[in-house]
Amino acid sequence: MKYISTRGQSPALTFEEAMMTGLARDGGLYLPQEIPTLSKAEIAALHGLPYEEAAFRIMRPFIGETFSDDAFRALIEKAYAGFGHAARAPLKQLGSGHFLLELFHGPTLAFKDFAMQIIGQMFQAALSRSGNRITIVGATSGDTGSAAIEAFRGLPNVDVFILFPHGRVSEVQRRQMTTPTEGNVHALAIDGDFDDCQARVKDMFNDFAFRDAVGLAGVNSINWGRVLAQVVYYFTSAVSLGAPEHPVSFTVPTGNFGDIFAGYIAKRMGLPVDRLVVATNQNDILHRCLTSSDYRPDGVTPSISPSMDIQVSSNFERALFEAYGRDPAPVSQLMAELKEGGFSVSQGALQALRESYDSGRASEEETSATIARLLVSTGELLCPHSGVGVKVAEEHLETATPMITLATAHPAKFPDAVEAATGQRPALPARMADMMTAEERVTRAPNDLAALQTLIKERIPA
Ligand SMILES: *Cc1c(COP(=O)(O)O)cnc(C)c1O
Repeated sequence: MKYISTRGQSPALTFEEAMMTGLARDGGLYLPQEIPTLSKAEIAALHGLPYEEAAFRIMRPFIGETFSDDAFRALIEKAYAGFGHAARAPLKQLGSGHFLLELFHGPTLAFKDFAMQIIGQMFQAALSRSGNRITIVGATSGDTGSAAIEAFRGLPNVDVFILFPHGRVSEVQRRQMTTPTEGNVHALAIDGDFDDCQARVKDMFNDFAFRDAVGLAGVNSINWGRVLAQVVYYFTSAVSLGAPEHPVSFTVPTGNFGDIFAGYIAKRMGLPVDRLVVATNQNDILHRCLTSSDYRPDGVTPSISPSMDIQVSSNFERALFEAYGRDPAPVSQLMAELKEGGFSVSQGALQALRESYDSGRASEEETSATIARLLVSTGELLCPHSGVGVKVAEEHLETATPMITLATAHPAKFPDAVEAATGQRPALPARMADMMTAEERVTRAPNDLAALQTLIKERIPA
């Protein structure tokens, strides 16, 4: 199993190499050269399995020789042991033909834990084998950073630096990043928005001298290992509703396009997925692109669903690569145009995208109203991201095919927005109560590449 870059100018890598490096040196993202498939019988056999065993069977074809079967099984066991629900990703019914996939029972209460916990285990196993030391640098709109810190805190051979937009993450998100006491954890509050943070991280990866000097490794949602881990719950949830005999549809609250792209991979692997619906908040560049072909970032407007306040959606490049028939030339061209302000997708590629994805947006008012209404009709308290998902899903319900909406975070991660919508303040699970009074450790930093590089070099062991 080899991995190729969406820009076509970097050598093909093994799973381990693609996972450890994150972004390709040509600026592209890695994808498997061929997408393995599961037979109908193999999919049917997932029914009733523990989440961990299903995860093993779904991910195994992608990892090549990186881990033995026994070692890989052990890593998966450890990754999900800290989850607060035995099913890991339980499915709840919201109404006729509409289901909610709860992905927020991990240690930081967002779906990012599904990928980050297994990535942490795989990195540690690979590094203890090679003896290498790495520096993880990531940008976060809130949840990736806390999940990464939780997965890598205290690991030998790893320093983890997380850039988050100062003042634009929720208090719970911030505290999850600033209260760990381990010396290898570095939370950086950047004077800028999420797109600035993500751009500085990309700049660091494109500075090859720096990249090599500090052993830079990326765990942002472009990391193939993360996309892969997210494929699993599409299978487990669909199978519990009757796949492969019966198809299902999914609605996914979307920002960087990683989670929904995992759904696309599940479909390509043979899972009968009817529709994949992209749900955006008022930062609706993906919805606009899928309806008008035009992709032109025009600044982020802060919302009550901050983890989706994104206008440069990095994994969308993978979707474009597929839509252009895996031709790296037009993808490289579009990405060059994006640097100059934006691009238009060709008619053929737009048609291909629309065959794979539907889309919708929810305004702030619609999201709040949906959270309030769902509490009354189902007793379920949604986080604002999941509220966006449910609102858009309701516009795409069909009687013949069940809809599964991904609930991407726990409401207690966004208590102010949830209380404003419902009058109820969601409580943090008891295991997290200490965090709200613990001392915070954070470095305020400018939105400036050179300054950030200096800071990182000073912090890591020589
Ligand atoms: C990261 C995140 C999203 C968006 O996921 P992408 O993979 O970036 O599309 C949605 N909701 C929550 C709570 C998140 O943390």
